[in-house]
Amino acid sequence: MGLFCDVALPVPLDQTFTYAVNGVVPVVGARVLVPFSGQRLMGVVVRVHEDAPVEEFEIKPVQQVLDDAALLSEELMKLAGWIAQYYVAPLGEVLRGMLPLAAEVKRHFSYRIAEQGRKVLYEGAMKGSSRRSKLTVEEQNREYSVLNYLEGGEAAKMSALRSATGANKGLLEGMVRKKWLVREVVAEERDARRLEKVAVLVAEARLPKLNENQTAILAELAAVGGRMRVRDLRLSLTRAGVPESTLGTLVKRGLVVVEEVAEKFHLGGVGAHGKKHAHEHALNEAQMEALGTIAAAMEKGGFRPHLLYGITGSGKTSVYFAAMQRALDAGKSALLLVPEIGLTPAMAGQMVAAFGGEVALLHSQLTPDERAEQWHRIRRGEARIVVGTRSAVFAPMVDLGLIIVDEEHDSSYKQEETPRYHGRDVAVMRAKFNEAVVVLGSATPSLESWANAEKGRYARIEMRARVADRPMPLVELVDMREEFRETGQEQIFSRRLIEETQATLDRGEQVILLLNRRGYSSTVLCRSCGEKIECENCAVSMTYHKPVSGNDAIAQPGQRLECHYCGSRRSVPKACPKCESEHLYFLGAGSQQGEERLQELFPTARIGRMDRDTVRGRSDMERLLARLHGGEINLLVGTQMIAKGHDIHGVTLVGVIGADFALGLPDFRAAERVFQLLTQVSGRAGRGDLIGKVLVQTYHPEHYAIQFAAKHDYPGFVAKEMQYRRWMHYPPFAVLANVVIQSEKLEEATAWAGTLGRWFQMARLDKVRVLGPAAAPIVKLKRIYRFHFVLKAERRQTLGETLRAMLGYAETQGIARRNLVVDVDAVHLM
Ligand code: ADP
Ligand code: ZN
Ligand code: ZN
Repeated sequence: MGLFCDVALPVPLDQTFTYAVNGVVPVVGARVLVPFSGQRLMGVVVRVHEDAPVEEFEIKPVQQVLDDAALLSEELMKLAGWIAQYYVAPLGEVLRGMLPLAAEVKRHFSYRIAEQGRKVLYEGAMKGSSRRSKLTVEEQNREYSVLNYLEGGEAAKMSALRSATGANKGLLEGMVRKKWLVREVVAEERDARRLEKVAVLVAEARLPKLNENQTAILAELAAVGGRMRVRDLRLSLTRAGVPESTLGTLVKRGLVVVEEVAEKFHLGGVGAHGKKHAHEHALNEAQMEALGTIAAAMEKGGFRPHLLYGITGSGKTSVYFAAMQRALDAGKSALLLVPEIGLTPAMAGQMVAAFGGEVALLHSQLTPDERAEQWHRIRRGEARIVVGTRSAVFAPMVDLGLIIVDEEHDSSYKQEETPRYHGRDVAVMRAKFNEAVVVLGSATPSLESWANAEKGRYARIEMRARVADRPMPLVELVDMREEFRETGQEQIFSRRLIEETQATLDRGEQVILLLNRRGYSSTVLCRSCGEKIECENCAVSMTYHKPVSGNDAIAQPGQRLECHYCGSRRSVPKACPKCESEHLYFLGAGSQQGEERLQELFPTARIGRMDRDTVRGRSDMERLLARLHGGEINLLVGTQMIAKGHDIHGVTLVGVIGADFALGLPDFRAAERVFQLLTQVSGRAGRGDLIGKVLVQTYHPEHYAIQFAAKHDYPGFVAKEMQYRRWMHYPPFAVLANVVIQSEKLEEATAWAGTLGRWFQMARLDKVRVLGPAAAPIVKLKRIYRFHFVLKAERRQTLGETLRAMLGYAETQGIARRNLVVDVDAVHLM
């Protein structure tokens, strides 16, 4: 009787695969390497058994067992199973996302001489030479050296072959194609001790003539004392436009050496700066009460979900800190999820200041090695406080006692690729499996979470006042239709906003202006035929970026139009591509144009801009925020990045430009998003001793999202929005899935959409409403055509069953799984 194991593989197929065990018997939850359609893949063992598969085809053996103990705990395996089921996602792809350990498996290529290769070697050089005439004599000789080297029959690693014969990978691969060699892939686990490369300036080197790029590198190294991690160096070189190869040149010339040293433990770049954290004040009454509720739940034990609804500036962060401290005191670990660490570096920094070496940070800017390192620290129980973005919900916590999801309404918690899970909802499920306490915090809770609180599924904690009795800012609406009538001009900034900005700057206070579009102009339009200039890969208009020098990293001279979806660029055409008219004009001001206009209006202001063109990583953000805190900047313009949880006490005026534009988007969450954005950005005003003011420029002053936001009335907004959702059978009154049919071929996409549409009709689903097929709002994205259905059902089980039945039918119709995107609880319907 043989032994078998079922392995979940990261492939878009809703099944596991059976392999024969020979040798080491893997345990459930361990990683293995297995052959899969000509490749070697890493998968996770989900079952070990003796049931020989019935199918006729050959069962291949496991090639290597990578872990002798389960890498994923039973609890995480269970969570993975739940995600696969709930989000209708392949288990192997779910597991891949949970195990950030790809960096630990290294692949080598090795080569062995083949039959044909021997023939060539023995039958002499002359015979084959005419066929190989494309190669230079030197290359032909090299091929013979390789054959000679391998003559003994042993396989040799590529690195060994390269140093013995000088053959490069291209040459070896050519020999594989001619069947002179066979290539083997060897995967081996890497040394657990991580090494990192450090570039070191060679001090005594005599400086020969250098070009500008070479000088730049030497200067960069000299500036930091002669040593720098190669990774960091590369980053700053890319930024400065110095080609990577320059470093290699310097190494060859003996001016720089690259050393490998054991990597030091680091927190992924967030320094504590030796500061005490800003959340050490004695908690006020509301905070104490909130903490009391959470602490009591932890003491009592068991699964307990909470919704913490606390207005902006009510001091939620201090409650999180205190609750996490309680978890530590009780010998448990605590997990804090945040939308994006890079955007709110203060939070991470203060966590480190408060909890020191107990903290592990998990976020998207870590390298695979750093991520693996943090993962192991957490799993060994060395880091009991984990702060991270979405995927940190899978951190291998030991004794998990508390999960906090900050800004739980934030759409960055939804993963927009398979598996399309929602980090917040997974957090709740994970707390359930661990019998832990979970707290979802927000000033603008999602309607889903609010509904759960209303139903009593979540305990609601409220913090309805700002700390230290600070008042909420006054909100004033500026009707832009009226403004246009009175001035006869389409201006970015209204007279009111200019006046208030001037007054605020004159008082020595700070101003933040939200202009939620990056670039200079969002659309280039032909006046003659009305055509917009669209991306060649996507059905969206291209954004004009004005070429500038200095810190605008993305806008480059000569390539002025950019697609914000696929990143492609082109120059501004001289004439309309459709009608050849030369009357092109630019519409829709972005943050770049806003900044330019502000410079004209307020020549003495110290202006800063915060958007993805000026802030590319955490360090840019930290620098910009430091300049803001220090008062070096007194007027900041930017996209929704500026609305995130920044706590800048000098800001007394917030201006909002064009945020109501999003009300027109074809998405049932449009009003909710506009309300959230307005509330969050308004929350940036008046956080210090002085009262704040908010001016909202709008074309829809009567819209309820705007009206309620102006009154800081979240409950009022929710009540109204709930009515609409109920009438329209949208979440939280129904469960919803978006199904996208995608193909590079338009005919294929439409035909499949039709096929599935007919099936939905025939299936006569009386418990599921099906909208579509329709062209997706963005019908072409990255060269792929997209059609979609929106499915709504009262019960989750019905929805899941329908989706699975549809996938089963699609398979019989030859529609591959990768051409169907199933997005359960879709957040964006675009
Ligand atoms: P929220 O996240 O709810 O918008 P924060 O947690 O950022 O609010 O707190 C707002 C500000 O109030 C911060 O500057 C914080 O340091 C301060 N703060 C919090 N709690 C107290 C307190 N009990 N007394 C005084 N200041 C506090
Ligand atoms: Zn035209
Ligand atoms: Zn594009």
